[in-house]
Amino acid sequence: MFDYLIVGAGLYGAVCARELTDAGKKVLVVEKRNHIAGNAYTDSMEGIHVHKYGAHIFHTNDTYVWDYVRRFASFNRFTNSPVANYKGEIYSLPFNMYTFHQMWGVVTPAEAKERIEKQREEANVGEPANLEEQAISLVGTDIYEKLIKGYTEKQWGRQCRDLPAFIIKRLPVRFTYDNNYFNALYQGIPVGGYTKLVSRMLEGIEVRTNVDYLSSKEELNALAKKIIYTGPIDAFYGYSLGTLEYRSLRFETEILDIPNYQGNAVVNYTDGETPYTRILEHKWFEFGKDENGEDLPKTVISREYSLEWKAGDEPYYPVNDEKNTALYARYKELVGREENVIFGGRLGEYKYYDMDQVIAAALQNVELLK
Ligand code: FAD
Ligand code: UDP
Repeated sequence: MFDYLIVGAGLYGAVCARELTDAGKKVLVVEKRNHIAGNAYTDSMEGIHVHKYGAHIFHTNDTYVWDYVRRFASFNRFTNSPVANYKGEIYSLPFNMYTFHQMWGVVTPAEAKERIEKQREEANVGEPANLEEQAISLVGTDIYEKLIKGYTEKQWGRQCRDLPAFIIKRLPVRFTYDNNYFNALYQGIPVGGYTKLVSRMLEGIEVRTNVDYLSSKEELNALAKKIIYTGPIDAFYGYSLGTLEYRSLRFETEILDIPNYQGNAVVNYTDGETPYTRILEHKWFEFGKDENGEDLPKTVISREYSLEWKAGDEPYYPVNDEKNTALYARYKELVGREENVIFGGRLGEYKYYDMDQVIAAALQNVELLK
């Protein structure tokens, strides 16, 4: 008999498993994929850690979380600086003085602000009610048209007017020359990859991979007093109230016989016609740039395509618009009636969480269970 059955070996599940085990509880983790680490999983190809479910850069302002993760791995000093490619024109991200200079030739923050203000006025945007208005209000119409509209509509499969404003507020807008994508005090990639980090977290804990909890619910429930569930909340309830919408992704990964394909870890294709949203070149996430290919003569790239989720696909992004938020609230009522099941993580809470937020939430929630 286990004290806790943890469904899902992603970061939420792994942190709970570690903390409960250290508090003397007996824990079993089940994972339906054939590996641990959830969407942060990295696999080794040609000596390169390939981010199988998309680029993962650890960043946080939370010193406690930063100290916590570094118990399980050392981190390289990586600063995410993706580049936008709009029909062959290259722009710096996030939106900062380099971007404004490339777009308009302006040099000072005052000139950039003046341009944005003028475009905002011309577009007649008041209090932003959706992503389009929010974007124009932050950076003006030129940047919206070239760097946001096409990318966002490919990424979410919805018009910018039908998307919540908060999504674009994830990106910093800076009137300094600074291409650091995140406003974070701490940032890096675990040396050896995320899989190694999560495997250190799960050291000494029983983990059964290739086990789908929902297919053997009764049998598995009988093994433990309580359950921590980190899969999709609607799947747990057999979609009884309806299906929450997700965005899914498809990756086309290729090994190339050249050392350097695009000169950067991430290049976003921000026009509406290119069918993929971004290309990742995984070796550039690692410390020690190797553009001459002395250590790694080959390179691995992944083209990332965004698609609407349907049953059987991997759910990657919750779509936190009004309709889904209302449906989630109804599922949440069912959760409130559960005595022995705790829901957590990006899928369990249907929330666009970053890794540090998932870890912080797990550390906080698990305190009550120790
Ligand atoms: P997951 O990692 O999804 O883990 C849940 C696990 O539960 C999965 O392994 C799943 O297989 C398993 N599971 C589900 N159902 C069942 C079942 N029925 N039975 C058994 N197991 C089950 N965050 C950042 O901080 N920085 C980034 O740069 C970043 N980039 C991202 C890029 C992409 C493309 C995506 C999709 C996410 C990104 N994130 C990033 C977010 C990050 O992936 C999540 O915050 C984090 O991985 C969530 O951890 P989790 O444990 O909640 O969920
Ligand atoms: N975004 C954009 N152009 C870009 C990059 C991002 O319009 O070149 C928008 C897009 O709507 C995206 C949001 O900003 O969904 C948040 O970007 P982020 O990089 O945080 O997304 P994630 O890494 O979570 O996919």
